[in-house]
Amino acid sequence: MALRSYQCSNCGANLKVDTYNMSAVCEYCGQTLTLDAEEVSNILSEREKTKQMKTAEEEQTKREEARLKHDTELRKIEADASEFMEGARRVKDGFETVKTGFNTVKTIATFVLIGFILIFIVVVLIIVLKHFG
Ligand SMILES: [Zn+2]
Repeated sequence: MALRSYQCSNCGANLKVDTYNMSAVCEYCGQTLTLDAEEVSNILSEREKTKQMKTAEEEQTKREEARLKHDTELRKIEADASEFMEGARRVKDGFETVKTGFNTVKTIATFVLIGFILIFIVVVLIIVLKHFG
């Protein structure tokens, strides 16, 4: 005969519950309670269902959290990658600017060189003409 303690709904004292005979007796006010086996069974199965639902909910929450964490990490990686690409683009733009600068300097130098050569040719022509003229 298994005995378990519960609170009396009448006076709040301990109830001696006889789970074998499905009954409870208050030690203080003497209130007797007969438990309905079917009702208890229903309560237990309801409790089991609630427990299963809670477990399922907890698992669902865990999955949601894992998914959220994964999404957050993915977004961070994407942000890092786009930041890296932005940096690479800036470096490339920098190189382009330097290259354009070099090309401009090269073009100016070429024109200056051609100018010097033309002046040289003109000077040589003047000297030659003066010498033979
Ligand atoms: Zn009582």
